[in-house]
Amino acid sequence: MEPISPLSPLEQALHTARALVLADLVAAEVAEADVVSLVEESVVQRRWWVEQWPDGVEYVAGLVAQDVQDALLDRYGRWPLCPVCGSGDPHALEVEPELGPDPYWVCHQAGVKVAAVGALGSAGQGGTPSSPGSA
Ligand SMILES: [Zn+2]
Repeated sequence: MEPISPLSPLEQALHTARALVLADLVAAEVAEADVVSLVEESVVQRRWWVEQWPDGVEYVAGLVAQDVQDALLDRYGRWPLCPVCGSGDPHALEVEPELGPDPYWVCHQAGVKVAAVGALGSAGQGGTPSSPGSA
């Protein structure tokens, strides 16, 4: 008989990754049922991945975000759109680091960190009070 353990670090990381990416999808108003299922698919694959490579557990949130971004590109188009650049072609943010802990969204055109993964909803809404570089 094994003792019933609380959520394992892996399950916790997957749960967090799922929540963060869903929060960003909600922020972009694309959290529809089939989009949510893309997140679930990614979480299933990353569970397998982390079981093979437990050290990668910290990277799961960034990887799920990138998985969902890729999957959305096929079905819906670019996500998440850059909220920072007001002009020019619409473009998507990218996850950095691609493989690392504490992932965040960056705009490569403006060269800025936009928000942590999971915090897009609080970025670029209503205009930020301080906008360095643009007067
Ligand atoms: Zn941009």
